[in-house]
Amino acid sequence: MTQYLRKDLENLTPYTVEHIPFKIKLDANESPFDLPQSVRKALAAEILGGLSFNRYPDSDSYILREKLAHYLSLHTSQLMVGTGSDELLQIIINAFVSKNDTVLCPHPSFGMYAVFTRIAGGMPVNVQLDEDFAYDMERIFHYIKEHKPKIVFLCSPNNPTGNVIDRKDVLDLLNSYNGIVALDEAYVEFGGSSLIRELVEYPNAIVLRTFSKAFGLAGLRVGYLAACKELAEDLYRVKPPYNMSSFSQRAACIMLDHIEIINERVAEIILSREKMFRSFEGINGIKPYPSEANFILAKFEGAERVYGRLLENGILVRNFQNNHLIRDCLRITVGKKHENDNLIGSLQQIMSEVLK
Ligand code: PMP
Repeated sequence: MTQYLRKDLENLTPYTVEHIPFKIKLDANESPFDLPQSVRKALAAEILGGLSFNRYPDSDSYILREKLAHYLSLHTSQLMVGTGSDELLQIIINAFVSKNDTVLCPHPSFGMYAVFTRIAGGMPVNVQLDEDFAYDMERIFHYIKEHKPKIVFLCSPNNPTGNVIDRKDVLDLLNSYNGIVALDEAYVEFGGSSLIRELVEYPNAIVLRTFSKAFGLAGLRVGYLAACKELAEDLYRVKPPYNMSSFSQRAACIMLDHIEIINERVAEIILSREKMFRSFEGINGIKPYPSEANFILAKFEGAERVYGRLLENGILVRNFQNNHLIRDCLRITVGKKHENDNLIGSLQQIMSEVLK
C-alpha cells in the first residue's frame, strides 16, 4: 500500500479470484453451457465483416436497448446497459450516494453493494436476513428509520442463499420509503418472478439484470438495468461514454435472437437443481437450503474439510470461511449433468469419511 491511497480505503479488501486448478468449475454461478454454435457462427461473421473495430461503439448501446425493450416490453428510455451489472451497481451508487450517506445491504448477499458504497465514500449498513435467510422486513423498516439510507439493495433470488423476496414486501417497501430501492435480479431467469415491469412504474425503483448467468455471456460483461425514464436520465449523467464494447453489444443482441436456446438451457438447469437438491438431502451431514437460482447453498458437517477434499477431486465450489453467518456452508453452482453426477458421487464418498 502506498501513501497515495485514500485513508478510508486502507482496509478495503480487493476482490480477488483465486487461480486454483480444477476439472469441474462450480464456484461462480456461471452457465455451464458455452455459446451455441449458431451464435458463434453469427459472431464470427461479425468479426470477418460486420463490425467496425476502428470506430467507437454505440455509446448508449441503442440497438441492444431496443432489443431488450422488445424482450421485456419496456421502453428504451427506461433501460441502461453496462459492462456487467457490476458497472451498473457502481453507476447507481455514484449517482445517489454522497460522502457518509448510508446504504442498506442485505446480509449475507452479494458483496459488491457494500464495496462500491465504500469506494463512493458512503457507509454500507448490513441488514441481516433471518435464520432461514428470508428477508426480515420488520428489521429492514427499523433500519430505514434508524439509518435513513439513500439506497436499499435487495437481491432476489439472493446470492448466496437462493431464496426470493415476496413481491408484496418489495411493493410495501416502495410505497412507504422514498429513497432508492435497487432490486438485483441477476438470477431471476431460474426462479421467482421478475418485478421489472411493475417496478419501472415507481419513481424510486431500479431493477438490475445480467447476461452473465442464464445467457452464458459472463466473459463478455453485459448487464442492464430498468428504471422509470427520469431516474434512468439521472443515471445517464454518471455513465462513462462508450462503456460497452461493440463486440459485447452485438453478442448480446445475437443471444436475444436465440432466446429459445437460452430457455431450453434454463429449463435443464432448473431440473438439475431440483435433482441436486434431492441428492444433497439424501446424504448425511448435508443440509441444503431451497434455491430458486442456478446454485444451492448447503450446510456441511466439516465444510472446510469437504471443500478441500472436493478440490483434491478437481471440483471447485465456493466456501465462505470469511463470513461468520455461513461459515459452515458451501455454495455449489449447478453444472452440466455429468458434472453434477461427479459432484454427488464425490460428496457421497467424502461425507462418509468426514462423518466416520
Ligand atoms: N449481482 C449478483 C447477485 C451477482 O451474483 C453477480 C455476479 N456474481 C452480479 C450482480 C454481477 O454480475 P455481472 O457483473 O457479471 O453482471
